[in-house]
Amino acid sequence: MRVGFGNDIHRLVEGRPLMIGGIEIPFDKGEEAHSDGDVLLHAITDAILGAAAMGDIGQHFPDDSPLTKDASSSSFLKNVQLMTGARIINIDSTITLEKPKLAEHIPAIRKSIADLLEINIKQVSVKAKTAEGLGPIGEGKAIKAEAVVLIE
Ligand code: MG
Repeated sequence: MRVGFGNDIHRLVEGRPLMIGGIEIPFDKGEEAHSDGDVLLHAITDAILGAAAMGDIGQHFPDDSPLTKDASSSSFLKNVQLMTGARIINIDSTITLEKPKLAEHIPAIRKSIADLLEINIKQVSVKAKTAEGLGPIGEGKAIKAEAVVLIE
């Protein structure tokens, strides 16, 4: 068994969808990114790569490539699961953002990630918190995600 850690941060800007865990959350801002910017899927993808000691998301899906322009981060995650051959035991994650409140969306986010990885929803933990108004995340200018994963 091996453990991996991943984190990611994106600026929040108007005119972009807010993608979290493979679903779009209704909000007036979203992640600025070359891909769809799904901050949580990027953190989980990096955690799986980390557990396998197979580099990082930027190495496998460069943000200056036309192949990853506006790409769905779901495809990054699926690819990395196949590439590493990882059997996922469990994932724990935390999203930090000031707005919107995510509590009502957490079950759908967990289900989306579980479906993508073909695992049980009980293997996927997603938590959300604010930055208590501190720093760029607290000012609503950015969203952060952190994830750990245990693989076999
Ligand atoms: Mg990212």
